Amino acid sequence: MHTVLILGAGFGGLELAACISESLADEARVVLVDQNDSFTFGFSKIDILFRDKAPEAVRIPYADLTRPGVEFRQERVTSIDPRTRRVVTDRSEYEPDTLVVALGADYDHAATPGFVEDGHEYYSIDGTCRLRDRLAEFTGGTVLIGILSVPFKCPPAPYEGALLLHDHLTRRGLRDAARIHVVSPMPAPIPVSAETSAALVAALGERDIGYTPGLRVQSLDPVRHVATTRDGELAYDLFIGIPRHRVPEVVEASGLTEGGADGWIRVDPGTLATPYPGVYAVGDCADAPVPRAGVFAENAARTVAAGIAAQLRGSPPPEKYRGQGSCYIEFGGGLVAKVDADFLSGPAPVAPLYGPSAELAQEKADFAATRRRRWFTG
Ligand SMILES: Cc1cc2nc3c(=O)[nH]c(=O)nc-3n(C[C@H](O)[C@H](O)[C@H](O)COP(=O)(O)OP(=O)(O)OC[C@H]3O[C@@H](n4cnc5c(N)ncnc54)[C@H](O)[C@@H]3O)c2cc1C
Repeated sequence: MHTVLILGAGFGGLELAACISESLADEARVVLVDQNDSFTFGFSKIDILFRDKAPEAVRIPYADLTRPGVEFRQERVTSIDPRTRRVVTDRSEYEPDTLVVALGADYDHAATPGFVEDGHEYYSIDGTCRLRDRLAEFTGGTVLIGILSVPFKCPPAPYEGALLLHDHLTRRGLRDAARIHVVSPMPAPIPVSAETSAALVAALGERDIGYTPGLRVQSLDPVRHVATTRDGELAYDLFIGIPRHRVPEVVEASGLTEGGADGWIRVDPGTLATPYPGVYAVGDCADAPVPRAGVFAENAARTVAAGIAAQLRGSPPPEKYRGQGSCYIEFGGGLVAKVDADFLSGPAPVAPLYGPSAELAQEKADFAATRRRRWFTG
């Protein structure tokens, strides 16, 4: 049996384990390692923040994972040697035939001075719970939403946050007492899709939500509650930031980021292979030319599964990674839009927009339910 060790049971790791369990059950066994005891969809943080969902209600325990040929182990990875494929965890050591790093992205709150002391975020579960509690006490004033660094997970998420915050404050009768302003270093919300960007900018405008593209918040002054930018200061009563993203420390220490852009794992964009034989990286931690989002991690995992199958069977290399994924965007009022992105199939990325509509809101719910079934039970 060929052993595939997958580090990280998130979007990428779970999809890869499912693919191998489905197509290579007789030839390969999977060991899937994650430090947590449960998986949570990134977008569930929005449900915790705005839809009164308890964190426990959106957690999917790994104990439910019954996929044949997949063994889940709750362990923390402490060292990775890509040359020998030797991995050490807090409980064990491994030397698999194939190693796939799917450890996602960590947040570096301290990279923005003042953010730890005076900022909030909804990119981690703990941060989301703190912000939910802070919002419950909010009675009015300026909410500044700042994207602190690029790349970051789920490019539409800051705009979804602003639109849903509008609904939340409206429901509580506080919208007239509040100002919402989004500040982004990017030139447009979704630069690859002019129509999606236009729809988001129009939606912000219709709700009187301020939007300043091309501007980055550099630091916060926790005493005066002002954000510093190249163009001067912006006052806030509540600052919500999209924190700077980085690879987990164990990945940085492994040397896998050498040659990758801005500290991400260097991969061949067509195969997701790293320069080390038998070592791949998928998802947010990899320096593939796609946004950081679960749907791209999933698409990358399928490419890696096909590559492992071709190698085991001696068949020709599979189709190259296309960087495809359908991203759902919450517009508020129960409406959801969908962007069908394809980054690598053609000479330039394409990303047409559908909706927003109530039907697509249902499709998004089905998307999560399908993943849950496929990954955990098959
Ligand atoms: C608010 C928000 C909304 C989002 N909405 C969407 C959306 O609508 N659609 C979409 O496609 N994406 C969305 N995303 C992005 C999506 O969640 C991520 O891009 C996706 O989870 C990346 O998958 P991954 O497998 O690379 O990493 P992850 O899913 O983050 O998985 C990485 C795993 O590695 C584990 N890990 C890390 N370090 C260690 C270690 N040392 N030892 C052991 N385990 C470790 C972690 O516990 C984690 O389970 C959203 C994200 C946020 C924050």
